[in-house]
Amino acid sequence: MNSILAIEMVIVLTILSLLSLKLRILDMNGTILSVVIGAIVYATIGRVGISLLIVFVVVAGLFTKMGYDRKSLIGAAEPRKGLRGWKNVAGNGLVAATAAIAYALFPQYSEALLGGFIGAVAAVFADTMSTEVGLLQKGEPRLIIGFKKVNPGTPGGISLLGYLGALLSSLILILAYLPLGSTNPLNPATTTLVAVIAGLIGTTVDSIVGQLLQGLYRCEECGKIVEHSRHCGRGAKLFKGYRVIDNHVVNLICSLSGAIVGAAITLLFYSTA
Ligand SMILES: [Zn+2]
Repeated sequence: MNSILAIEMVIVLTILSLLSLKLRILDMNGTILSVVIGAIVYATIGRVGISLLIVFVVVAGLFTKMGYDRKSLIGAAEPRKGLRGWKNVAGNGLVAATAAIAYALFPQYSEALLGGFIGAVAAVFADTMSTEVGLLQKGEPRLIIGFKKVNPGTPGGISLLGYLGALLSSLILILAYLPLGSTNPLNPATTTLVAVIAGLIGTTVDSIVGQLLQGLYRCEECGKIVEHSRHCGRGAKLFKGYRVIDNHVVNLICSLSGAIVGAAITLLFYSTA
């Protein structure tokens, strides 16, 4: 990494962390972890990597806050006014950061690992957008397995608008990649394929894992089924799924599936292109 890029990195990451704190997108611990991940991506993949992450955080943050009062009313909004913490950052960014480190360490696999990085980001971006855009739709989503109608925000719930949100996120990611992508070893066609397919598969994996494995709790105070082990100021009882598989672990699995799909697509199509 040359000194100009290093100075640029410090300036960009400083401005972004101040903005994220000021606009209450991330809390302090979330901001610190995102700076670490941002520095890793800057130092390895460079400008195109960091611009994909920025677009994801900004667009997903905006859509989380969009219609927040209504989402809150139906009990499906992100807690804390959409302010996200370090676990959110880890669930959404650890796989991408790992792919970025591997990209720097194993230059002989740079195409596949860049595909893995883009796939990981595409998956969590699509998943966040499918949730937040899907919640804007009136009516009940259906479970991905069995198609039973469920309350909005239930893990495993899917809707048409949600999938359109996922597709929208992939298109936004492609637009962000194009201006800077020429400096990287992945052409626009492969990137487009990775962003769209990793996004759709990542969202789907998230829904399946969310429905089958994620721990859900019944609040003994108000009787609601909730994602968190605390509600109404007291501990809630495990109702189904596994305690260790919370929403953040589901996100981690979602991004891992995106990374695998992204790397696989690149290996299949890029080498023959
Ligand atoms: Zn409660």
